[in-house]
Amino acid sequence: MTEKINFIASQRNHSPAPTIPAVIEAPTGFVADTLARPLQDLRISLTDRCNFRCVYCMPEESFGKDHVFLPRKSLLTFEEITRIAKIFVAHGVQKIRLTGGEPLLRKHVENLIQMLAQLKTPGGRDIELTLTTNGSLLAKKAQALKNAGLARVTVSLDSLDDDTFKRMNGVDFPVSDVLHGLDAAHAAGLGPIKVNMVVKGGMNDQEIVPMARHFKDTPFILRFIEFMDAGSSNDWKMDEVVPSAEVVRRIAAEMPLERIASTLKSETAERWRYQDGSGEIGVISSVTKSFCHECVRARLSTEGMLYTCLFASGGHDLRTLIRNGNTDEEIASVVAQIWRARADRYSELRSSFMNGAEQPQKKIEMSYIGG
Ligand code: SAM
Ligand code: SF4
Ligand code: SF4
Repeated sequence: MTEKINFIASQRNHSPAPTIPAVIEAPTGFVADTLARPLQDLRISLTDRCNFRCVYCMPEESFGKDHVFLPRKSLLTFEEITRIAKIFVAHGVQKIRLTGGEPLLRKHVENLIQMLAQLKTPGGRDIELTLTTNGSLLAKKAQALKNAGLARVTVSLDSLDDDTFKRMNGVDFPVSDVLHGLDAAHAAGLGPIKVNMVVKGGMNDQEIVPMARHFKDTPFILRFIEFMDAGSSNDWKMDEVVPSAEVVRRIAAEMPLERIASTLKSETAERWRYQDGSGEIGVISSVTKSFCHECVRARLSTEGMLYTCLFASGGHDLRTLIRNGNTDEEIASVVAQIWRARADRYSELRSSFMNGAEQPQKKIEMSYIGG
């Protein structure tokens, strides 16, 4: 096993379980952090495993056959996930996204969806339950996901060109199978379906306009994501980031676009529509235009660590609290305490890190924390 592999595994160190506050308080449906950002959105990673080896996420050099994935017993069970999710919903979470790794690799994922779909906000509304997938298993699973109560899916697809896509996914997976998955998801009613393309300069940026052309005038909303410095193994370089402004410029040069307002303040994508009325695209400028000031998102790792930022170097061990027999009220008080202390704004500070300011220690991998 190489040093690098050991390093990735060791990032999952557990800090001691959080301390239960002296005063236990019942959730009120609202808790805000030090920058007045409410807790509204929860991403849950269902597995750290994936059948792809995307160059920007789980490159083969770091996630090869010797890589040690989490043992089964350390994964949260569906009951544990649902219990934690319920606590977050009581604090004001309205939207839950299942992710990973590849979430459709988790066995019987539809049973979990069925359990989460029962959750209601304190006001009695359904929560918005969605899932992000690489699409490889979607053709097989779309209908079962819908039947279980999943509202929508987001599908990742980085190119329509097989050679480019295979180079990016690292496992020779063909484009056509993802397109079949998209069609199956649409037929099952898992819409509106978003398609996420991570743009890595020099690798797939020539695919920006063909992807836009392909998805224009279809039910699918294409979104371009800037290549991020997530984790510590994707060899990120600023000069491989294609700024969203450049993505919009290239598309608009052929298919004129106009800006439209976002529906939600916390929406990460900037929306643009084709002037001829044939649909919209989104751009997510995680690097060039940070949106930390509106970030209302918490992340729960596969083994029950709570992270308050995608770029965090440490998490808070909720699994130990659950397995030690703490009550829902105690765990809810811990979550409130953690959220109230939150001050994360990595993306806003990135440029100062790039200019030599001290960075957080090693960042956690996206496949572990959930993208
Ligand atoms: N396996 C699923 C998938 O690929 O859709 C879900 C997990 S994946 C980590 C979630 C999202 O993160 C995907 O859309 C992926 O493209 C994106 N992602 C992963 N690494 C990234 C990076 N370094 N920069 C930008 N986006 C990234
Ligand atoms: Fe797997 Fe998704 Fe990461 Fe690609 S982006 S390696 S599909 S977890
Ligand atoms: Fe949120 Fe952290 Fe991303 Fe800023 S860097 S938007 S705080 S996840």
